[in-house]
Amino acid sequence: ILDKAYFIKVIKDLAEMIEENRDYLTGLDSEIGDGDHGTNLSIGFREVMKNLGQWENENLTVIFKKVGMALLGKVGGASGPLYGSMFMKLGEPAHGKERVNFKEFYEMFKSGIEAVENRGKAVVGDKTMVDALRPGLNAFTEAIESGEKPEKAFGTFLERAKEGSQSTIPLIARKGRAMRLGERAIGHMDPGSASSCMILEVFYRNLL
Ligand code: ADP
Ligand code: MG
Ligand code: MG
Repeated sequence: ILDKAYFIKVIKDLAEMIEENRDYLTGLDSEIGDGDHGTNLSIGFREVMKNLGQWENENLTVIFKKVGMALLGKVGGASGPLYGSMFMKLGEPAHGKERVNFKEFYEMFKSGIEAVENRGKAVVGDKTMVDALRPGLNAFTEAIESGEKPEKAFGTFLERAKEGSQSTIPLIARKGRAMRLGERAIGHMDPGSASSCMILEVFYRNLL
């Protein structure tokens, strides 16, 4: 069972993690994009932190909807709508409750990641955050179905997402700004795939 305290802590840690990695993520984005990915996420999560106190009495569905709306409203660029949709959908499987069981926790990520895919229309191999999230989610699904323990299943999710992020390095981009670079994108990790792994890592760390 994961309760509201877990998720509130995760949201606070996400904001902190983004500040710590802001320059790193922006650096990755300056190689193959416009050098604002870390800044974009920092603007978004600062807005979240400004308002989180007022949301803490709400249920998980509402809290994540508000987090997503803050990102959607404040973050310019591709990642704002994508992470905005992801967080908005993340809370839906909680069905207005203040805690979820592990099956529902899994469904949260399924719902959030499908939202990213629906919004951005990227598939694995396009050199985007989907290259981390989709294979990660598939591994998580298998782990859940084979009855793995929650922490272990999420660990598998994270590991596979990290591999997916590494796998973006040799690719040419077929979505997002890096598309314009053609072969010059080869040799650089996709920044959104990196931030996705960092986000998953925060959920994971707080499970242990
Ligand atoms: P922008 O490219 O508009 O400056 P960011 O730098 O914040 O926005 O985010 C860039 C990241 O967004 C990319 O690294 C990639 O992972 C992700 N991205 C871009 N387009 C898509 C898409 N259509 N689907 C999924 N992810 C995408
Ligand atoms: Mg950018
Ligand atoms: Mg930009």
